[in-house]
Amino acid sequence: MAAGLELYLFDSGTLGLGGVEVPVPFYLLRHPQGDVLVDGGNPLAVARDPHAHWGALADIFEVHMAEQQHCVAQLARFGIAPDSARYVVQTHLHIDHTGALGHFPNATVVVHARELQAARGAESPEATGYVREDFDRPDLRWHTVDGEFDLFDDGAIRLIETPGHSAGHMSLVVTLHDTGPVMLTADAADNRAQWEGRAHPRALSSREDASRSLESLRQIARELDPLIVFGHDPENWSGLSRAPHRYT
Ligand SMILES: [Zn+2]
Repeated sequence: MAAGLELYLFDSGTLGLGGVEVPVPFYLLRHPQGDVLVDGGNPLAVARDPHAHWGALADIFEVHMAEQQHCVAQLARFGIAPDSARYVVQTHLHIDHTGALGHFPNATVVVHARELQAARGAESPEATGYVREDFDRPDLRWHTVDGEFDLFDDGAIRLIETPGHSAGHMSLVVTLHDTGPVMLTADAADNRAQWEGRAHPRALSSREDASRSLESLRQIARELDPLIVFGHDPENWSGLSRAPHRYT
């Protein structure tokens, strides 16, 4: 466990999905060796004109986001300048997780190799959830991982392979000094209903993999008893302390 590691929870607005408003979270980890942004929520472009950026997906996902809810604006209010972030970790590259890309010039973007491959090979956004303009940028410095990855090699921020929702989806297990373990499932489990088996995980890549990934996260949770942050769960989210609160 890393003394000095802090976790902040943010959201970049909500998505209306079949009548339910779900949060679109992103996370900041302040590690002694550098700031880490996990996903970036919605891209800035959809705060301005969702249809121009998302096309038909903007009809399925009704976005509610103001420009000042973009990750860069929210971090600026913390005094965190875009050039100071060391890493951007992408749980995956779907449209509501790519808000950081292209905005943090000194950050290395960490993503699973299969996720980047799938996103680059994706045909239509409607079928796959990927919008090419988000990640197909010459200015991004990628670091692809395969298998479990320990970001600072100190056990504090572990990236866990959880494919199924997308081809190379990853969840995180963070170990804080006071709070203890925190699991960021991202979209491996949107919500508690999926976690408890009352609903299927949303599997855009593989239903079998998604079920297996969920089970492996449950196994980790049985061992660690972490604070769990689901990917898009309004109830779970409202029960957590958002930034400026910090989990230490
Ligand atoms: Zn998502």
